[in-house]
Amino acid sequence: MCQVNLKSADLVWDHYDRYKEPVITNRFFKHTEVLNLIQKHTTSRLISAVQIGQSVKGRSINHLKLGTGKTKVLLWSQMHGDESTATMALFDLLNFLAADDEHNDLRKLILSNLELNIVPMLNPDGAQQWKRRNDLEIDVNRDARYLVTPEGRALMNLAKDLKPEIGFNLHDQSTLYAAGRTDKTATLSFLAPAYDYPKSMNEVRKRATQLILTMNAALQIKIPGKIAKYDDAFDPRCFGDTFQGMGISTILIESGGYYADPEKQYIRKLNFYALLNAFESIAKKSYANQNLEDYQSIPENSRSLYDVLIRNVSISKEGIAFRTNLGIVRSQIKSPDFGSMSYNGRIEELGDVELTHGYDEIEASNLTFTAGNIKLMRKSEWETLSPQQELDLIREGYLFVKWTDGTSPAGPLNARLLNLTNKETNTIQSASIGQQAQFLLSRDGKPVYALLNGYVLDLTKDVATVPNVFGY
Ligand SMILES: [Zn+2]
Repeated sequence: MCQVNLKSADLVWDHYDRYKEPVITNRFFKHTEVLNLIQKHTTSRLISAVQIGQSVKGRSINHLKLGTGKTKVLLWSQMHGDESTATMALFDLLNFLAADDEHNDLRKLILSNLELNIVPMLNPDGAQQWKRRNDLEIDVNRDARYLVTPEGRALMNLAKDLKPEIGFNLHDQSTLYAAGRTDKTATLSFLAPAYDYPKSMNEVRKRATQLILTMNAALQIKIPGKIAKYDDAFDPRCFGDTFQGMGISTILIESGGYYADPEKQYIRKLNFYALLNAFESIAKKSYANQNLEDYQSIPENSRSLYDVLIRNVSISKEGIAFRTNLGIVRSQIKSPDFGSMSYNGRIEELGDVELTHGYDEIEASNLTFTAGNIKLMRKSEWETLSPQQELDLIREGYLFVKWTDGTSPAGPLNARLLNLTNKETNTIQSASIGQQAQFLLSRDGKPVYALLNGYVLDLTKDVATVPNVFGY
């Protein structure tokens, strides 16, 4: 008899930190780190690795194998180079499966029923430069038919060789997706891709859908309402759709956003947890108890979030005073070594924002948009300005600094609250689309909030909280 019992995988949640791979601390790890981790794992007899191809730039693509079970499962991550959340989770899972502790029953269950085949970081050249496409500038996940890319060919050859029952296609999506038209982030989104244009259902796709429902049930306890489903329009260029048609029950998992988790370390844990639940369910075949109808209850992915949404703020522009909403997005700027990210907060929307939401929201119906003033000072003064002094200037209405000796470089600068500017005017004027989100919200002429490069600073709070505004 099958029974729905996810208890074993559930119990691992609290012990996750034991298995979290310490070498990976942020999203920007490269192929070298992956190779070191593969080497660490293959020193055990549990895990074997073989090279199945190489990238355009000659970086190895590796297939890791563990487990002696009959059910073959293929997991591949980071076919888009800048989507690394699941790669982190896969190494956490390897640590879990290689460990020896009170979860041995679950390990044994998984490793005796499943053969896990893992390809971490399918697109290492993309990861190296933190970009989606490979070094031919082709999107590997639109290359399932032509197989022009060596990365896509390696994956297809492996899938044809293994003929797995189940596949996990592991990606990241924009952090600006919501779960339906709600204020909840689409932290994880799922899809059982269609294998034909009419989006038919067969046993292969049904099993993928049931596995999604299994993971959804486990995740709803951890992140209620923050799970969505991806659009299921058939696209024969994609590997998921193609594999589904080849008889591999394929599941797409997209890691999205979660409040105050820019490096996606909590979402990494959620990936670990979802996949572990899936493995247990595959081993027990308990997913078969899931009712396909329940898939309808998972909300659709909806691109309807801003990083900051300011509602009902008073603005004066072109001689007209009006009340409206401001949507702010912090776009990412890669560092020259592709090893970190800075952010550029800009006004992306001005007007009616019905059915959209913000990671941070400010109800500004008693607040007025106020342009920041420019403070003139010597370069040496600027260089010795403390965060407290910067905050004091912001409270006086200054958001920009111009040097009186020499040319100020253009801001913003990380970890500085004020921006450097060379503008001729005394203030940076009005609210405009595309403008940097560096302004004040005032009540009766007194600044209450400062928006600093798209980050919200509550000026009524103590200075001790200031650095947290730049927690990214
Ligand atoms: Zn992707």
